Amino acid sequence: MGDRSVADRLKDFGEVDNGLSPEEAIEEAGRCLQCKKPACVDGCPVNIDIPAFVALIAKGEFLPAAENIRQQNLRPAICGRVCPQETQCEQLCVRGFKGGPVGIGRLERFAADYHMALACDAVTRPPSNGIRVAVVGSGPAGLTCAGDLAKLGYDCLHRSVDAGNYARNEQRVDLLYAHRPIARRLLAAAAGHLTPFGHLRVISAEGLIGLKVQALANNPRRTQDLADIRALLQANRDRLDFNEVREYFRLFDRDALLDDLLSELDRDT
Ligand code: SF4
Repeated sequence: MGDRSVADRLKDFGEVDNGLSPEEAIEEAGRCLQCKKPACVDGCPVNIDIPAFVALIAKGEFLPAAENIRQQNLRPAICGRVCPQETQCEQLCVRGFKGGPVGIGRLERFAADYHMALACDAVTRPPSNGIRVAVVGSGPAGLTCAGDLAKLGYDCLHRSVDAGNYARNEQRVDLLYAHRPIARRLLAAAAGHLTPFGHLRVISAEGLIGLKVQALANNPRRTQDLADIRALLQANRDRLDFNEVREYFRLFDRDALLDDLLSELDRDT
């Protein structure tokens, strides 16, 4: 359907791009080669089964396509609009070698909008498992993390504050971060380490260290993160799973930092 005219856009703050019509979506989806090893999926941070939802759109099955996406991503209308598909799924699409990649982002947006237009957006929540989780960060990743956890029965609180607040003070919370590999590891750690403190619970010290390493990797000038990591290593030295701790440092290319911190602690003791 293309972009709205400038004259129209001057009247409101609506979107520039009108999105795809059903006919255009079917035509675009028909360009997908249904690769046996779909490189596009490797480029998707949440591993949406792209060929599957695209195939459903090609057949005109728009609602099942949206449901298919939502198994991996509860916010396809947002991701279809703001994800940098040109450096993710679409960059790896083999169709890109000739004639341009399949418009995966536009198809995702189309399916999501179709779904929402029919008011099919209600999500059935499973019974609460009684565990309250503070998700640090209320951006797209944090919201996605909270959505995925809610689907698993967790009660989610949102916190857009620095994770260090939890590491430094005495608040006892389940602490999850939105970076998916870390969130998974923290969940796995939570299963083994959770200790109840009132209505909230504390997750592992390893997980907290992982969060701080990531914060430091994002902004190396935040000396408080480094101080928190040092304090956590010192306070939990005897009970830490150092394989897990090292994995966090490795994930953010900070192996050398861990070695330095451990030598420092050795010197101090
Ligand atoms: S890489 Fe492109 S053509 Fe292949 S399955 Fe993914 S979207 Fe379709």
